[in-house]
Amino acid sequence: MPNTLCDSHGRCITYLRLAVTDRCNLRCTYCMPKGCLTSKSELLDYDELLRVVRIFAGLGIGKIRLTGGEPFARKGFVDFLAEIKEVPGIKEIGITTNGTLCFNDIQRLKASGVTGLNFSLDTLSPARYKKITGADLFHEAFASIMEAVFLGIRVKVNVVVLDNDNCDELLHLAGLADDYPVEVRFIEPMHFNGSGEFTPPQWNAARLKAFFLENLPGCVELLKKHDSTAQLFKVKNYLGIVGIIAGHSRSFCASCNKVRLTPQGVLKNCLYDNGVLDMKGLLRSGADDGEIIVAIQNAVTAKSADGSIVEKDRRDRMPRSMATIGG
Ligand code: SAM
Ligand code: SF4
Repeated sequence: MPNTLCDSHGRCITYLRLAVTDRCNLRCTYCMPKGCLTSKSELLDYDELLRVVRIFAGLGIGKIRLTGGEPFARKGFVDFLAEIKEVPGIKEIGITTNGTLCFNDIQRLKASGVTGLNFSLDTLSPARYKKITGADLFHEAFASIMEAVFLGIRVKVNVVVLDNDNCDELLHLAGLADDYPVEVRFIEPMHFNGSGEFTPPQWNAARLKAFFLENLPGCVELLKKHDSTAQLFKVKNYLGIVGIIAGHSRSFCASCNKVRLTPQGVLKNCLYDNGVLDMKGLLRSGADDGEIIVAIQNAVTAKSADGSIVEKDRRDRMPRSMATIGG
């Protein structure tokens, strides 16, 4: 299927991140400590979401990531996945999840065409997990990760590196890639925490890289895949891989290949923009697919070269929670 979704900087969009809800059973301190909810009628329903997926697939999008909020907190989510699988052109279906609600679904996910699961896990200490997420659910999260590994699903573990909470666990967490064939990605926190307060991380990507190269014996940086957000490292004798995502310092805009749809049905070219297309408005106004395609193409053509330019132009200075954007 030809890719017809390219921006004016020569980047082609092949990846859609679809946030199916902003609800979550956790309250991670760096994401949505207070919670911020969209009413049910303001969310796109599954038929609307499926129409969006079909339209984007027709435009050359081959990879979908379902996220939120916590996607498994939305009723009917697993059935919805099976419908996405049937959309021609969709080759990869990934889910980003906290893993606390999905243990019993994991077997079914594989049959539903899910090609990869990204789990959030910021600590290996149950007590600390409770402090960071507000919930005593470490064992549930960890069991889901193990189940996915056991079933042979491609697993990535997302660790947000928090200067005051888990930076003493970096080697321990990286060791998950020693024991299991998983990619453990250390993420710089960004200001999307819904609080309006943010201190740039001391443990930034450059420091993390220096730390791992020095402290993981036989650690070497791998050549970066063109459209990857992560710098990856192979460590001698590890089954898996260690990665760093410079979310705050942002070194990957030049190769960005993605757009996002927020839980409120707004299309975003960049995490930092205010939304570039009211997709829900279009869908609910009776627009036909052709009109929607033209609107998407126009919006994507105008995608900015770099997130820092977008950030400067923001109307709304108050950063929202990652859960309301679809991280
Ligand atoms: N609830 C699911 C989860 O936690 O994996 C999916 C949604 S969550 C918003 C998606 C990803 O965004 C998670 O890996 C989470 O760690 C990350 N995230 C949330 N807030 C963040 C922030 N302020 N800075 C960097 N990453 C953040
Ligand atoms: Fe929920 Fe994920 Fe945000 Fe944590 S990071 S509060 S699990 S949406």
